[in-house]
Amino acid sequence: MARYRGSVCRLCRREGTKLFLKGDRCFSEKCAIERRAYPPGVHGQGRVRFSDYGVQLREKQKVKRMYGLLEKQFRQTFDRAASMKGRSGENLLILLERRLDNVVFRLGYATSRAEARQLVKHGHFRIDGTKVKTPSMLVKPGMVVSLRERSLKVERVTGALETLEGRSVPQWLEIDKDDKVGTIKQLPVREDITLPIDEQLIVELYSR
Ligand code: SF4
Repeated sequence: MARYRGSVCRLCRREGTKLFLKGDRCFSEKCAIERRAYPPGVHGQGRVRFSDYGVQLREKQKVKRMYGLLEKQFRQTFDRAASMKGRSGENLLILLERRLDNVVFRLGYATSRAEARQLVKHGHFRIDGTKVKTPSMLVKPGMVVSLRERSLKVERVTGALETLEGRSVPQWLEIDKDDKVGTIKQLPVREDITLPIDEQLIVELYSR
């Protein structure tokens, strides 16, 4: 599947906020936003005034990039959210949170969603004992996420798991820190998503 191959720090600088796409580096002083907090490009330091459309577009791009989706997949997720009961914006965020790559990241098996996505695609995880390789799979309450036995020796996984002690997982998920097994306790709700997102702007953009 197609994916963005450019500099991810550029994406943060374009959106003017940290998207946390590079794992530990995002928390260090090497973070590009800390050093150059203005958009990339020759006109990056000029004054920019966004129209209503521009504000809505930037919010959509921010969320899309945060979760590592390309436009087509993001639009399909929105269409699915709009066809569900309830508020389209909230449904969209909940569908994004339920993606397996996001759950692997949230459970602490990876330091970024991109890394989580790659680990899933390489077949390191099992859902209820069955190998899965689909990062876009939506998790359901009661599902159990575990690593293949030999994947517990993969350096990137062990590195991320070492930091588990000091990290908390969202209340809709649970991780057994000894057995390294995660459980989906319930579906996430809007309050579980603490990222600075105004989902209504995305709804307005796609309703144009
Ligand atoms: Fe964004 Fe992380 Fe790069 Fe900082 S280090 S600009 S948060 S991807």
